[in-house]
Amino acid sequence: MSQRVTIEQLAEWLKARDDIALFGHLSPDGDATGSTLALWHALRAMGKQAMVCLPGGTPSLYDWLPGADRVVDTEAGTLPFVPQTAMSVDVSEHERLGEKGKRLFDSCPFQGVLDHHKTNEGFGQLYVLDGDAAAVGELVVDLIAALGVEMDVKMAECLFVAISTDCGNFNYSNTRPQTFRAAARCVEAGANVAKITEDLYRTRSLGRTRLLGAVLAGLEISPDGKVAWSRLTDEMLRYCGAHREDSEGIINYLLEMIGVEVAVLAMERKEGTKLSLRAKAPFNVARDVALPLGGGGHDCAAGVTLAMPMEDALKKTLTVIRKALQK
Ligand code: 5GP
Ligand code: MN
Repeated sequence: MSQRVTIEQLAEWLKARDDIALFGHLSPDGDATGSTLALWHALRAMGKQAMVCLPGGTPSLYDWLPGADRVVDTEAGTLPFVPQTAMSVDVSEHERLGEKGKRLFDSCPFQGVLDHHKTNEGFGQLYVLDGDAAAVGELVVDLIAALGVEMDVKMAECLFVAISTDCGNFNYSNTRPQTFRAAARCVEAGANVAKITEDLYRTRSLGRTRLLGAVLAGLEISPDGKVAWSRLTDEMLRYCGAHREDSEGIINYLLEMIGVEVAVLAMERKEGTKLSLRAKAPFNVARDVALPLGGGGHDCAAGVTLAMPMEDALKKTLTVIRKALQK
């Protein structure tokens, strides 16, 4: 049984630990990458041995973050030391650690969890869950303070990226007063907002720009105009000269169309098909679509990976969405 604790209790627990591995989720995003890296800097400032483990390593979108070059690819990399303590950060369930990540997490005698996914039922020995936090980065700001570490500019940059990317740069409905307060702490500690947001939101590679065009060219919409979907195949990545993480954010273009309530982007994976799901409130895409299909996520941003070809996976998902819309 996993015990639910406060951030202060997690801080006390971490103070007593060493040889710490910080884990992010499969297809690491800005929050998973920025939050693990910020905590890594804080633990090192405390004199602890620590490492960040991300499946596939640092996504290239975030390879400029301080410490990104020291990230261990959980799937392929060699470990700098044998960890005794496992801390999962922004990982909604044990499965989302990935195959090697799960094994490494389980091999540690001490296991903690820090997360903000409402669907997280808790794993490891103890967990902190704040389902209202816009990003785990918000919680890491508090955790670093509870650890007694002063936020430096490296932590600040990582945390600003974590917070900003998970709330659509302070645009989504998950943005709350604490989100701004946490971001303000990062700016006070030296995070350069103009530079970071230019890199994140106002700069894109040729490959990503081409991919955006290709995904939008394949757009389909239901007869009532409420559901929009598209496909992203490995073949498209090749001819666009794009990377997998270049898909991030493209689904928003589908959701932002007038009248659309739910958007789906289907992507090829070696396990089958990954479906990214987005909704406009009050439609709850985690509860009504992702969970029934075996996935998870947030009310308005969720996902699931189905072990089936893309067309079958899309058909199945669209059927679940249609039923949910009729409720
Ligand atoms: P994205 O569509 O950006 O990959 O993911 C949005 C959210 O959905 C993530 O924060 C994550 O919680 C959840 N999610 C995405 N893919 C999966 C998946 O394959 N399985 C589960 N359980 N959750 C997912
Ligand atoms: Mn997150």
